[in-house]
Order: sequence, then structure tokens, then C-alpha cells
Amino acid sequence: MGLLTVGRPLSWDESRRYREYVRQHGVIQFLNLYKRLMEEPRDDCLLWGDEIEGMVIEFDHDARRVRLALVAEDVIEAANAEADPADAIFHPEYGSYMVETTPGTPYAATYAALLSVEANMAARRALVANQLAPNQAYFTLGGFPRLGCDDFTSPAHAPGGPIAKSQYSPDEAINSHPRFGALTAAIRQRRGRNVDIRVPAFVDEASVDPPVIHMDSMLFGMGLCCEQVTLQAMDLDEGRVIHDLFVVLAPLFMPLTASTPIYRGRLADVDCRWNIISASVDDRTEAEMVRPDEAAGPVARDPPSSKTTTTTHTTTQNVGDALVVTTTSTTTTTTTIPLGDGATRSESQFLPKSRYASASAYVSLSAQEYNDIDAPFHYPAFLTLVNAGIDKPLARHVAALFARDPLVLLSGLIEEVSDATSTLHFECLASTNWGSVRLKPPPPDSNIGWRVELRSMETGITDFENAAFAVFTILLTRALLSFNASITIPISLVDDNFDVAQRRDAVLNEAFHWRISYGAAAAAAPASVGKASLDHIFNSDLIPLLQAYIDLVGARAAGSLATPAHWIRNFVTSHPDYAKDGRVTDSIQYDLLTAVTHIADGSRHEPSLYGDLRAATAAASQ
Ligand code: ADP
Ligand code: MG
Ligand code: MG
Ligand code: MG
Ligand code: MG
Ligand code: MG
Repeated sequence: MGLLTVGRPLSWDESRRYREYVRQHGVIQFLNLYKRLMEEPRDDCLLWGDEIEGMVIEFDHDARRVRLALVAEDVIEAANAEADPADAIFHPEYGSYMVETTPGTPYAATYAALLSVEANMAARRALVANQLAPNQAYFTLGGFPRLGCDDFTSPAHAPGGPIAKSQYSPDEAINSHPRFGALTAAIRQRRGRNVDIRVPAFVDEASVDPPVIHMDSMLFGMGLCCEQVTLQAMDLDEGRVIHDLFVVLAPLFMPLTASTPIYRGRLADVDCRWNIISASVDDRTEAEMVRPDEAAGPVARDPPSSKTTTTTHTTTQNVGDALVVTTTSTTTTTTTIPLGDGATRSESQFLPKSRYASASAYVSLSAQEYNDIDAPFHYPAFLTLVNAGIDKPLARHVAALFARDPLVLLSGLIEEVSDATSTLHFECLASTNWGSVRLKPPPPDSNIGWRVELRSMETGITDFENAAFAVFTILLTRALLSFNASITIPISLVDDNFDVAQRRDAVLNEAFHWRISYGAAAAAAPASVGKASLDHIFNSDLIPLLQAYIDLVGARAAGSLATPAHWIRNFVTSHPDYAKDGRVTDSIQYDLLTAVTHIADGSRHEPSLYGDLRAATAAASQ
């Protein structure tokens, strides 16, 4: 969660009159930023960084007890004071026991940088440890097992408090920065009731507890820990492609990093935190959760049937060929606007997902046909963006952020903010739409480019494994990009993968939707979507993409595969027209360059150059 500018957070009631203003101006701020960026096309290089969240605990060795130590705010201040900011930065997170660490400077795209990741993580961990008392420790893992059980904090606090009103967790476990409390209260108040988190319990032989573990506050979700990886794209177009790669990869990385099988002191039947966090910040009203009866809605194909509306709150459903715009004030009005690339139905304010959820739409132009689920967006925002020349998929992506209410507004920083220079209102929405992937626009007046963040991984115990997953993410992304590989599957299937990914031992037991086989069958694109184990997906398809690069270099070094020069020389000297005079005639050149173009396009197989290595990756590029 990004910390925004300091200012007094308005209460949920106080912010009501500004919410529409912030929406409108958030869109304009994005648009102004976008226009400035387009005037100066970017050519950024790969830079990247990780974020690791962890927790401070306190051991009572005599009593054999461990509690969360609510000391993170002091620890963060002290660690930042001790660290060289070029090496490490320590960030507050939701829990007052949580410390998030990031590199101080993003990693460059060099081999040395890849090797420095684990060392950087270790140095960050050591800097946190330096600030702790002898009976305290810092650990990294998805969650604290007995979060929300009796006496789980040090100092001790009774559950409850005006912010979260939880029957299990004390408000003191929430970071005291006003933003976190305001966010918690706003979600609860917008929703009209406490959040309601229910996790299936692991039922063992002698289990006597209810089959569901109940939790009732934001802490149970946002108090968990994850690993995130952010990389800078060359430009927006590449960022959109990376976004869509991450959309598919997000649920596949999650079970490999699964580290959260315990909630409120009980083994769960899930291994991952995702749905728990999602429920912990689910601010939807009961009405917004009701899926409309398909039969109830009009199906409009072409002609627009729009009515003027009085707006207090507008959500938009994109289903098939058109948009359904729903405005809620005292009455509900529906406007149907055909887009020419979809169909429509139903009249509702339905929001299918929490604001913390798997991505609902691909954003690159080539992936649009795979967007097959309801992805509500704010229609006025969409219109503003499209009318300004932004293409529809990008406009929908941005407008989807505005389908939600702004949650925390800061006094003195609302109408006072300049749309020409600030993106505060845009960030207000962007930073509280917690997707599995985030496309981050360049901050105004910075030399930072478009970045994409993979947000689904759980935190592991060691720097070794956390570094491994961060580095692997980067290498795999580069390989997929350079092979121009398409791993896109219908996004409804990505959602299925998210559900399956969280099940107990998903790695061992589950199959995932995937483009089956990068071998010969892959050219058949969408028709070849099937199911595969993670073993197949990673070991037969993805890792061989990386392996093929390494093997090619190795084989050239060993001399078992030819360099292009060696092969060209051989081609010329064995050509029938070659007169052993060193001359490369027009006709030899003709055959040589015909062969070269055919090798490049894959129609000519040249084992002396590539062995079978190219076959492992070639189909991925189709
Ligand atoms: P947030 O919590 O909003 O995701 P953080 O500041 O905690 O933001 O983390 C940002 C991550 O992005 C860090 O890993 C940082 O190293 C990385 N990062 C910073 N600048 C760049 C950049 N120009 N390109 C890629 N990654 C960057
Ligand atoms: Mg974080
Ligand atoms: Mg942050
Ligand atoms: Mg360039
Ligand atoms: Mg962060
Ligand atoms: Mg982050």
C-alpha cells in the first residue's frame, strides 16, 4: 500500500461531498500526465526492484510463547536512519508489527545486479534486526499463525476499538499513521458492516471447531505479508504487454510461494492469503454484490438507448458488445452504449469482485478477445479518456480504477491540488485498487518510466527463496518478451486459476488452465488451451525458455553448435558455384540470404546452428 501525502484524513461522512470531484479530477490528472508523456516518447531501460514484507515478533522463551511486537514504526525510523538510502528503504505497512523493505536503488539489467539481489535482501534484513531488542526477531512469511488469538500482541491489548470494531483484533495492531485507520474505517462504513472473512478450516480426525475460520477486520488480510516485483518497461506499449503476461503468471506463481496455511491459530484448507486479503478490504455494499439475473436485463446490440442521469455514483459493466452504465442516486437509470466490439445485458450496480482482486481485463490491444468477464468501469471516466484519443482498452483499464469510491481524502489536498502538475487524485484510486498486477504510470516530474508490478507472491522464509522468485520473474519476463511469446488465455480461466492456486497443496494436486504445449500444437493458439500441472507449466514450458538461452551459449562455447560465421563459411565453400577462389558471387549470396531469411522465419531448420534448442522456444513465439 503506497503512503500518500500527509494531511488530515477526512472521515467517511466528511469525504462524501468530495468523492465525485476526486473521481473527475483523478481522470483529468491521468490524462494530463499521459499527454505530457506522449509528447516525449519514452525509451526507458529495464530497471527493477522487489518488496518484501515481514513481521517483528517477541519471544518469551520461559513461557514458550511468541507475540507480534507492535514496534514497527520505531524500527522503521531507526533502520532508515542507519541505512544508506541508496541501498535500502524501510516502509511502513498496515500492521504496527510489519516492516516492508525494498532496495534503495532499483536493480539494473546486469548479471552483477541479479547476483546482488539476495545480498541486498540480507542486508535489509540485518538492518531491521539491528534495531530490535534481544528477545525480538524479524521474520518473513505469509502471516503470523495466531493473529487474532487471545493475547497475540506485545504490548497486550484487548480486541476491539473504534476503527475496526473487531471482536478479535485490537486497533493498536494497525499502524498508527492516520491513513491506515481512515482506510479501515472507510471500508467498514462504506460497506455498512464489518468485513466478513471466512476460510475453510482443515478438518482433522479430532477437530471440534467449526469448519470455517471466521475473521472480521482488515488486519487479518492487510496484516499478512507478500513479495512483490516491479519492473520498468521501455514504454507504455511494452508495459501493457508485461501487464498481460503478469496477469496470466500471477496465479501460477502463488502456489509455488504458498506460505500462509494458518489463520487465527487454526490450520486452514488453503495455503495462500489471496482470498483472505480480498475479503478483508471488500468495501462493496450488499446491493453491489448481487449478480443481476441475466434474464432481467435488456440485450442491446446496436442502437444506443441512453437516458440522462443524475449522478452520485456510477458504475459500468462491460459485457460483450456494449456497456451498461448504472447510476445510483435516489433512482437508478440505465444507459446502454454500444462499443461495436461486445454485447450487453442487465441493469445493476453489480461489482463482481472486491477492490483487492485478480485482474479483470487484459490491457494490450492484441489480447482483447480474451476479455470474457464482467469488468466494470466508470463510464464518464472512460468517455473522457476516449474523447481525448486514448484507445478503448487502455481507457477501460484506467476507468476501471474509478469504478470504486475514493476511500481516503486528505484535508487541504482536494480542490487545492493542481490537475496540471499533480496526480494525487489519480493515485488515490490507483493505490486502493489492489489488483494482482499494477501498471504504474511514471510519477510526474521524474525520470522514472512506466512500471509493472507482480503482486501475487507470498513471502518466503529465506532471502534465498525470495531472491530466487524475484530473479526468476525478471528472467522469465525477458525471455517471454524476446520470444514474443503469447501465454494469454481467456481471463475467466485466469480467475479459475486463482481459486485453484490457493487450495491446500495446489502444486501437488491441481491442474491449471494453460496454453498446452509450446511444441507443435501451440500454433493452434486459443484452441490449445487446456489444463496442466505446475510441474508441466514450469518444467516443460517456461523454464526451458530460459534454459534454451543458457544451453545455446554453452553449446557455442563447447563448439558443439556453430557460430553464424562458421556456418556461413561452410555454406559458401560447399556451394556448387563456389570456385575455391574466395569469391562470394551474386548467386551464392542469393542462396545464402534466402537460407538466412528462412532460418529466421523458422521455415528452415538448421541443427548445426541451433540443435533442437530452437524448437523448445520457437512455438512460443507464434
Ligand atoms: P509500492 O508499495 O507502491 O509498490 P514501493 O516504493 O514500496 O512501492 O516499491 C517500489 C518498488 O519498485 C521497489 O522494489 C523499487 O526498487 C522498485 N522501483 C523503483 N523505481 C523503479 C524503476 N524506475 N523501475 C523499476 N522498479 C523501480
Ligand atoms: Mg507492501
Ligand atoms: Mg507502498
Ligand atoms: Mg527504443
Ligand atoms: Mg511497497
Ligand atoms: Mg508494491
